[in-house]
Amino acid sequence: MSVESQELNLCANDNRGQSQLEGGFDLLGWDEVTQGSVLPAFDGDASNIANLKAEERSYSGYNSYTASVASWRVVKPVFNRDICIDCQNCWVWCPDSSILSRDKQMLGIDYDHCKGCEICVEVCPTNPKSLLMFSEYAELEESLAAWPEKKKKEKKSKEA
Ligand code: SF4
Ligand code: SF4
Repeated sequence: MSVESQELNLCANDNRGQSQLEGGFDLLGWDEVTQGSVLPAFDGDASNIANLKAEERSYSGYNSYTASVASWRVVKPVFNRDICIDCQNCWVWCPDSSILSRDKQMLGIDYDHCKGCEICVEVCPTNPKSLLMFSEYAELEESLAAWPEKKKKEKKSKEA
C-alpha cells in the first residue's frame, strides 16, 4: 500500500471481508428490512456532498461505502507502481469505483469494494500491464516478484 493511500485512509485492510465472515457478524439481511424503509446514505446535511472528497463525507452505516464486499473475490488485482503511466484507464472503467486516484495519479486499489472482475487489468495499456490478477492470498512482494517481463514485438515475416 502506498503512503498516499494510507494518508487518504481509503485502502482496505487485506482480507477484511474474510475476517467479517469468520467473525460471524450478525447483520440484517436485505429481505429482513421493512418495506418502505428509508435508509439514509449520509449522516446529517448531505446537500453539499457532491463537492466533498470520499474521505470527507459522513457516510451512514447503511451506505455501501461502509461495508466490505472483499469476501466476494477469489482473485484480486495487484498494482505495480513502477510500470504505471497514470493514464487513468482503470479508474474510468472500474464498475465499482475501486481504483484510488488523486490529482490524476493512480494510488492503488480499494480492496474493501473491489469485486475482482478484472476489467481494470483488461484496459491497462502498459507492457507489461501495471495491474495483474493474483490469488486473494498472494502477498504483494510475492506478486511483484512474479511480474512478467516486457513483451517484444513479433517481427513480421517477409514471406507472409
Ligand atoms: S477488479 Fe474490477 S472491481 Fe476490482 S478494481 Fe479492477 S475493475 Fe474495479
Ligand atoms: S490503466 Fe494501467 S497504466 Fe493506466 S493508470 Fe491504471 S494501472 Fe496505471
